[in-house]
Amino acid sequence: MEYVKLNNGVMMPILGYGVYLVTPQECERCVSDALAAGYRSIDTAQAYYNEEGVGNAVHKSGIARKDLFLTTKIWVSNAGYERAKVSIDESLAKLQTDYIDLLLIHQPFGDYYGTYRAMEDAYREGKVRAIGVSNFYPDRFVDLAENVTIKPAVNQIETHVFNQQVQAQDILREYGTQLESWGPLAEGKNDFFTNGTLTDIAKKYGKSVAQIGLRFLIERGIVVIPKSVRKERMAENLNVFDFSLSDDDKQAITEMDEAKTLFIPHNEPEMVRLALNYDKNHNPKYRTTGA
Ligand code: NDP
Repeated sequence: MEYVKLNNGVMMPILGYGVYLVTPQECERCVSDALAAGYRSIDTAQAYYNEEGVGNAVHKSGIARKDLFLTTKIWVSNAGYERAKVSIDESLAKLQTDYIDLLLIHQPFGDYYGTYRAMEDAYREGKVRAIGVSNFYPDRFVDLAENVTIKPAVNQIETHVFNQQVQAQDILREYGTQLESWGPLAEGKNDFFTNGTLTDIAKKYGKSVAQIGLRFLIERGIVVIPKSVRKERMAENLNVFDFSLSDDDKQAITEMDEAKTLFIPHNEPEMVRLALNYDKNHNPKYRTTGA
């Protein structure tokens, strides 16, 4: 495994395993399989409602805690100093751990300055080894980074071959902030897995399209956290450290950048409303029987 050094010296694996849309029921099995395959970094979130599954798998794995890197994210419904503080302790309990390696603000909505202050305090108390943000576009990112004491260690944003985040990466660099990709396989959108350019390149290296897409991001120094519920794909996505892309192939992939999101932009009112109501609509706690 290769690592990146965060702006506070913490070492983070450049490749991890993400569990978005992995059901609470399936999560423990998936994370156990991922750990068995060799993943040591797991990315979850309060809003995935599967932190317990991650905690169970980690606990049962017998892998030393210091050899694991656990990320979780504070959801919008827990925004603000007091609620965020309580939610950090809840996440620690669900993950069955004394500390979180990386804690992120999931979305730049609600009182996220209050959230960030709670995270700074948790960092000082040793409950968290690094703090950062997610889905902060450059304008909001700069505003936050200029106004806080502890500079964000990471910004986790949509990044893949079709949306390469070149400008965002330059801005993050100014603050020593690591770019982490979510959706590194574009969630298969835009016919990612059958893309002609990627397929041709993949053939040359005897690799899959997924492996080429991940390798391209890793060679740009970007942390990736691909998700799969299938063991064989978990292994495939991890097997990207035995080859390098030629300059010509990197250039061909660079030219695929459309520099726009394949999802709902985070600066659209629709996205803000979706995020603000997400917990109510998705949290199993609020679901009535049969709904
Ligand atoms: P990915 O880009 O990782 O794509 C996942 C999809 O690709 C799944 O449908 C999976 O299917 C399929 N897949 C995975 N590997 C392969 C392969 N080798 N060949 C073919 N198909 C494959 O999308 P995610 O959105 O899951 O992003 C990764 C992680 O990033 C998330 O799990 C989450 O941790 C994080 N994330 C964070 C967000 C944020 O707001 N901060 C937003 C979205 C994601 P299958 O499972 O059936 O194999």
